[in-house]
Amino acid sequence: MTAPIQIERVKKSRLSTVDFSNLGFGNYISDHMVVAIYKNGEWQEPKIVPYADMTMSPAMLALHYGQSVFEGLKAFKNSEGRVSIFRPQRHAKRLNKSLERMCMPAVSEELFINSLSALIELDEAWIPTSEGSSLYIRPFVFASESKLGVKIADEYRFMILTSPVAPYFSKPVRIKVDQEYVRAAEGGTGFAKCAGNYGGAFYPTLLAQKQGFDQVFWTDAKEHKYIDESGAMNVMFVLNGKLVTPQLTSSLLDGVTRNSILTLSASLNIEKEERKISIAEIEEGLKNGTLSEAFGVGTAAVVSPIASISIEGRNYQLPVAGPESFQLRAKKKLINIRLGIEPDTHNWNHYIK
Ligand SMILES: *Cc1c(COP(=O)(O)O)cnc(C)c1O
Repeated sequence: MTAPIQIERVKKSRLSTVDFSNLGFGNYISDHMVVAIYKNGEWQEPKIVPYADMTMSPAMLALHYGQSVFEGLKAFKNSEGRVSIFRPQRHAKRLNKSLERMCMPAVSEELFINSLSALIELDEAWIPTSEGSSLYIRPFVFASESKLGVKIADEYRFMILTSPVAPYFSKPVRIKVDQEYVRAAEGGTGFAKCAGNYGGAFYPTLLAQKQGFDQVFWTDAKEHKYIDESGAMNVMFVLNGKLVTPQLTSSLLDGVTRNSILTLSASLNIEKEERKISIAEIEEGLKNGTLSEAFGVGTAAVVSPIASISIEGRNYQLPVAGPESFQLRAKKKLINIRLGIEPDTHNWNHYIK
């Protein structure tokens, strides 16, 4: 795939309709999108076309049997106007892990990064520049073949949409430790970013919200004793002065933000531990004050502070995270690296052009 990507431009840009002072998250979709078709055992040349509705068969296999996976990453424009995408290679690798688990065809890193870079270059004017804002990128793959019988599809689409987003200020969230429902079991699809994991998480989350919480901590499917994730984010704690996070298993999503913060931990002067974390240990730490911070980490919010944790109806408050907290220092460092304010020693920024 060395030939330049074929581009069909919009007749009239919608950029002027965007209220950049009030972006929210995911409200606007940029002018163009990437579309590649998989058939006859291979990906056809990707195209960039105007963002628009598309026709599809009601018998499209993705709708019935759930072969649908996605990614989420961000592009930034720094103060010198340089455009970078954050860790696209790692997102490409994770996409392929998800695709493999769902019996879907791999998207080469070349196809992923080339089509993504071409799209961002074309819609560069959609990248917001106010502090903390970014262009959110949504690559996804789904089974497009139409057939009613249960089968692994032979035809797929790979598409990329982008959306200018404001900083995702999450106010500190109230957590309920869920010991009834599970998001994922070991051996299941929890490590894959597949659409069905989200559909299955809505109901228990809604129940928690009706009980006055914002989010749940998912626990392990076998014993409901160990913590997996927080909503659709990885979770981290500062316990006895150390950064502690659940180790990766097949029921956890291997977050790029999780990996980035673990990688930066040494330079933020904290020891890190990836291991099993029991609810009992968290409750003990909340009781005796050795648990000083709890927060979710993910691309959308970067860091989402946790205000309280409820375990079997026993509710514990966490101190408000100040500027000296680990979570805010980590967030700041990550933001500064992405904007080129601090050196990108790990080569995470993929500059285009
Ligand atoms: C996407 C996602 C995350 C966060 O991953 P990042 O790569 O950091 O955005 C965490 N947990 C779940 C379940 C997710 O889907």
